[in-house]
Amino acid sequence: MSRLPVAVIGGGVAGISAALRLADFGVQSILFERSDRLGGRIRSFFDSDFGIELDLGAHIVSGGYKDFLALLRELGTVDDLQWIEPLHLSLKGSGTPVYDLRFKNFPGMLGPLAGFLSYKALNIRQRFSLTAQLTRLMMMRYVPALSAEMWLQRVGATHAQMHYFWQPLILATLNALPGHVSVASLRQIIQLGLSTARGFSLGIAQKPWQKIVGDAALGCLQRKGVDVRLKIGVEQIIIEKGTIGGLVVEGERIEVSAVILAVAPWDWKGIFAPEDFEYLFNKVWQVPLASAIHGVHFLFDAEPPEADRLMTGLLETTTHWIFPRRLQGKRSRWLLSTVASASEQLLSMPEQEVISLILKELRSVWPAFSYEPVQARCVRVRRATCPFDADLEKRRPAQKTRVSGLFIANDACATGFPATLEGAARAGFRAAQAFREEDG
Ligand SMILES: Cc1cc2nc3c(=O)[nH]c(=O)nc-3n(C[C@H](O)[C@H](O)[C@H](O)COP(=O)(O)OP(=O)(O)OC[C@H]3O[C@@H](n4cnc5c(N)ncnc54)[C@H](O)[C@@H]3O)c2cc1C
Repeated sequence: MSRLPVAVIGGGVAGISAALRLADFGVQSILFERSDRLGGRIRSFFDSDFGIELDLGAHIVSGGYKDFLALLRELGTVDDLQWIEPLHLSLKGSGTPVYDLRFKNFPGMLGPLAGFLSYKALNIRQRFSLTAQLTRLMMMRYVPALSAEMWLQRVGATHAQMHYFWQPLILATLNALPGHVSVASLRQIIQLGLSTARGFSLGIAQKPWQKIVGDAALGCLQRKGVDVRLKIGVEQIIIEKGTIGGLVVEGERIEVSAVILAVAPWDWKGIFAPEDFEYLFNKVWQVPLASAIHGVHFLFDAEPPEADRLMTGLLETTTHWIFPRRLQGKRSRWLLSTVASASEQLLSMPEQEVISLILKELRSVWPAFSYEPVQARCVRVRRATCPFDADLEKRRPAQKTRVSGLFIANDACATGFPATLEGAARAGFRAAQAFREEDG
């Protein structure tokens, strides 16, 4: 079986992780990526007006992301992240002070606990009951099939707790409103924080993500002998008698020993013959609706407010987080990247209007910051991530499929994590492992 190469389809985090692991196992592979760069949803693009690479969207990395951080270590770029450690989040609304949720440098759970108990956005009673809700979420033996919102209502979360803690947390980590994701997904995120000593820290990129993931991966994969083929989309996966028969690439059939499908779930349907798609997925899985993310990048010739913080959350605005970065070599030139999670309501709005709206919001939060941006760019990602409701969560596909030689690796797979960088990296590593086990 392993005399022919294994095909990895898709060069996002999942595909890169799968191809690297196959190389570590001594398995020859070809990675097909239909765009001209590796990275998938974490890639960047060169913007000639800005004169720099802009990210498709700002990404936050949890210190609990074991597999994604292992991937960056292997790529040699883990030090390109700057860490907020211990965790410190700032939230600011129009006319409100900056509220700081600052974990303390105490051992174990004492650090987060002390942070919650001194979180001034909530009164003392609400701080205590928030820690009780978190403890309850972690300790429950049976996770009910409820949305995060229903579960939080059930445990008595107040409006203030939702507003100043749960909703920003869920939007930032799951790219969805609390009513649209399962309590299981919420629990997975908190568990990630608890899983390592650094779990509650946050990593923010200090250079374009393309350099940290896609470009670094291209060099690393090629050094390991992986045949990376950019700008080549796979047209069809051929399945014959329940086994991988080959691929159709540029109109030609090619032979491969196995396939790791590492494309996003909305691209699955087109790559299989209808009956194969039906056989593989239809009874168990429907492609979920994806949540949108709108990022607006601004270039300012002035230092933006809260520039000493790596990120600040905004309350009651369409934008949820801002990330300021001083540009190297340019005195006092700042890139301010904003993120509006689960922003389906902006999809029908022209991009210029989105820019004006976000700028207006920034000015309502910081009235004194009245500078005109030198440049502004709206980046709309219509399908950014899949939020899993309680029903879909149970039916996420495993890496090993019913077809011999076909494995699935992407952030929508069943990995025990929501659709995140960690879910994608883990799915990639596991798919390679599943291939090895099936191959004997
Ligand atoms: C704006 C934005 C912000 C985000 N923020 C965060 C965050 O803060 N933290 C976090 O953990 N996650 C975040 N995510 C989610 C994270 O980016 C994804 O979970 C992860 O990148 C998914 O990786 P993947 O490899 O599963 O899929 P993808 O990155 O989608 O990779 C799939 C690849 O397959 C390629 N492809 C598709 N069809 C074919 C074909 N037929 N042949 C060849 N190639 C094909 C595509 O071009 C693509 O490169 C964010 C996502 C977006 C869009």
